[in-house]
Amino acid sequence: MSHPDILIIGGGPGGLSTALHLQKIAPHLASRMLILEKEHYPRHKLCAGGLSVDAEIILERLGLDASEVPHVAAKRMQFDFEGRGLSIRNSKKHALRVIRRNEFDAWLAKKTEERGIEIRQGITVKNLVSDESGVTVQTDQGDFRAQIVVGADGSNGVARRSILPREPVYTARVLEVITPIQPDPHLAPPPSSKKMGEDGRGQAAFFDFFPVPENIAGYVWDFPTQVNGQAMRCWGVYDTNLLSDGRRPPLKEPLADEMRKRGFELDDYEVKGYPIRWFSPENKVSVPRVILVGDAAGADPFLGEGISMALAYGSLAAREIDEAFRRNDFSFNRYKFRLACSGLGQTLFARWFLANLIYSLKWKWFQFLFWRLLKPIANVIAWNFILNWSKRLK
Ligand SMILES: Cc1cc2nc3c(=O)[nH]c(=O)nc-3n(C[C@H](O)[C@H](O)[C@H](O)COP(=O)(O)OP(=O)(O)OC[C@H]3O[C@@H](n4cnc5c(N)ncnc54)[C@H](O)[C@@H]3O)c2cc1C
Repeated sequence: MSHPDILIIGGGPGGLSTALHLQKIAPHLASRMLILEKEHYPRHKLCAGGLSVDAEIILERLGLDASEVPHVAAKRMQFDFEGRGLSIRNSKKHALRVIRRNEFDAWLAKKTEERGIEIRQGITVKNLVSDESGVTVQTDQGDFRAQIVVGADGSNGVARRSILPREPVYTARVLEVITPIQPDPHLAPPPSSKKMGEDGRGQAAFFDFFPVPENIAGYVWDFPTQVNGQAMRCWGVYDTNLLSDGRRPPLKEPLADEMRKRGFELDDYEVKGYPIRWFSPENKVSVPRVILVGDAAGADPFLGEGISMALAYGSLAAREIDEAFRRNDFSFNRYKFRLACSGLGQTLFARWFLANLIYSLKWKWFQFLFWRLLKPIANVIAWNFILNWSKRLK
């Protein structure tokens, strides 16, 4: 049986960030950490790859430069209702950096290993059993015993299910499609369709909330991206499930409608789906000796953003772990309070509140009013609660 002091389950942004932050604040712990990742890098992760400015700020503080990863820089983010609405630009740089997760996570894992932290790939954790003196982590390749375990294994992870089996789980449904930047040139576009680039779409990342009146508490997105260096578009639809009320409206229809407007047929492409577990103030985020980060703890309910959050959870969890060793107290009973007081907790709470407010006022007239006419209010909300929270990451 292997005995690391700190065992991190999952080598996505949440797990890798926890390790990197711990190495930064307590370098002596680097050799006492082990990350278990069930896949091999570069591994696929379904994700649109929108990296917000906050994610980049957290990486910069770790001495990491996200521009090293292949990306497309979207100059503006457009929050629309039926094609028009609020435009967000960053005067100093891009509004959103769009990466592919196979490339981003492999890059982050390499940086982590370069700082002396071991990642064992191809090991799947099956169960966790904690007791007073430590945690036994059962895997498909034998048992590990650790003093502290970090559950960073994502929305469907085994860590949270093992330690909090009866906790309510709130998940969003998400579908994603990758297409070339132009529809098949051999197919005539429908008369009403606009070609990519004609209206400046090629430069922007779009979120359109037109499906809300149809009981889809979310939006359809359309981001510029690249796959193996080739310019592509990433489309998708996000639904928090806040309006489904037991019945789940079909998700494919609004996505197909939006793509058709641009001359694309959804059925011509491979559609993939994956859930996002989102934050609710009632979520438990730790038990003695086990601490959750990233989607395992809860992502943004409003937009389904989770990369920056996972990176930020890592910073908070690292401080809790460092303190646990210094005080010899592994209860983690202050983690939730400290999360709530941090910029991360504040933005998660604000986004949870916004999701419950804005999606429950689902009428077309309200959505029209909010996204198109109340732009100054939406702008203030965006700048104060959606962006710039990482500066308050204490
Ligand atoms: C379709 C879609 C689009 C999205 N688009 C965006 C976006 O544009 N921007 C954004 O910020 N967020 C986006 N998200 C959310 C984002 O992908 C997640 O919030 C983010 O990946 C969370 O990081 P994490 O480290 O917590 O989990 P993950 O990235 O899921 O990493 C978990 C890791 O744990 C490993 N693992 C899982 N189970 C085990 C196990 N039993 N044993 C060992 N290892 C295990 C996995 O292989 C994985 O490497 C999107 C999500 C979806 C589904």
